[in-house]
Amino acid sequence: MGELAPKSTQIMEPIVVDGFATTRLKDLLAWAQKYSLFMCPFVTACCGMEFMGVTSPRYDLSRFGAEVPRFSPRQSDLLWVVGTITQRQAPILKRIYDQMAEPKWVVAFGTCASCGGFYDNYATVAGIDKIIPCDVYIPGCPPRPEGVLDGLMLLMDKIARRDPRPAVVKPRTDPVELPGHGLVQLGKKRESVG
Ligand code: SF4
Repeated sequence: MGELAPKSTQIMEPIVVDGFATTRLKDLLAWAQKYSLFMCPFVTACCGMEFMGVTSPRYDLSRFGAEVPRFSPRQSDLLWVVGTITQRQAPILKRIYDQMAEPKWVVAFGTCASCGGFYDNYATVAGIDKIIPCDVYIPGCPPRPEGVLDGLMLLMDKIARRDPRPAVVKPRTDPVELPGHGLVQLGKKRESVG
């Protein structure tokens, strides 16, 4: 037998020594879970357009093992909450969450789902964590597809580490590619496009 891998790598990755791979069963399960997420989209508002963009072939969610939608919560383990949630929708969202089997994860897609966005009124829920637990918050109105992928990878990392703490995706600052205009820095769009 050769040398063991450093302790820090034993948590997530199998140790390969002279043709043998060893790992702990719970690590193997976490590894399998992070690459086989079955999503249940709960789409209510304009963020849905960006959600459709992210799930298009251009962004290839299948490379993360997360491309298959299940429109029954009983067959899903990843709930995407996409858009504004009103007080009338809140009990429906709670019921869908309750119908999902464990283990399950929730992503707040966009500012409205994360904190209510600019809707500061009696009809809107100020963030889905007022109703159900949320694992990852993706800011943006709507979020950029790259930011959504950041959120998905953040969630996968949390699953692998079995980390129950909620996480927030950092806002993207890299330029956006606009057809016919090349790379455009957000916030300077008007000057750049001309
Ligand atoms: S965050 Fe913006 S784009 Fe998304 S649902 Fe709210 S208002 Fe619409």
